[in-house]
Amino acid sequence: MLKVIPDAITTLLYPQACSICKQGVENIADGVACRDCWEQTKIFSDRDVLCGKCGAFLRESDHQTETYCRRCDDHFYDSALAVGVYDKALAAAVISLKHVPNVAKTTRKHLVESLERNSFANPDVILPVPLSGKRLLERGFNQAAVLARIIAKSSGIGLDEHSLIRTVHTPMHRAAMDRKAREMTVKDAFSVTRPNLIAGKNVLLIDDVLTSGSTASHCAKVLKTNGAGSVNILTLARAV
Ligand SMILES: [Zn+2]
Ligand SMILES: [Zn+2]
Repeated sequence: MLKVIPDAITTLLYPQACSICKQGVENIADGVACRDCWEQTKIFSDRDVLCGKCGAFLRESDHQTETYCRRCDDHFYDSALAVGVYDKALAAAVISLKHVPNVAKTTRKHLVESLERNSFANPDVILPVPLSGKRLLERGFNQAAVLARIIAKSSGIGLDEHSLIRTVHTPMHRAAMDRKAREMTVKDAFSVTRPNLIAGKNVLLIDDVLTSGSTASHCAKVLKTNGAGSVNILTLARAV
């Protein structure tokens, strides 16, 4: 029944305040952020110069040159890319997704468009960055798997939610944790349960947010140790 009610009427019936500026969200497709906040959100485009490996935002320019930030030189993945900067509507979407396993239409659209703009070495399989069994029980769902299902459905690429697991329960990353501390919490935290499904495959790994890149790097390391051909990462947001 709800599906046939136009967005504007649904919004009138169920008004929601933007989680950033507290104005009303006019369109239910925009999720937890209003249109103004979406418009102020940095969604990466061809005008942005990003690190060719980790996808860090470097500058805006009309002249694209291959540039590297050099801080990601020792990361094990091939490349990482995000929809945009972890700020405004994308930050709100990431936070919301930690509580509700639902992705608003606008967020989904941006996610699918970023995949379409980047071929990522023709992935054979999509894997979500896993949660530990304990965290999965606490939360009830893996937010990276929610995103991975959207990508799999829109691209037709196979989804594998079981071959990569997190064996060590690590504390939540805190903003105050430095690079070294983040690195230590994810070291040896992952393992591959079905190496025969990973060997020789180009993997597209999905997560909600990429911060230092150490989680993605450790996942890539264990995937490559088990024979993955390439490991590329797509996230909703990139913390800068
Ligand atoms: Zn707003
Ligand atoms: Zn980089």
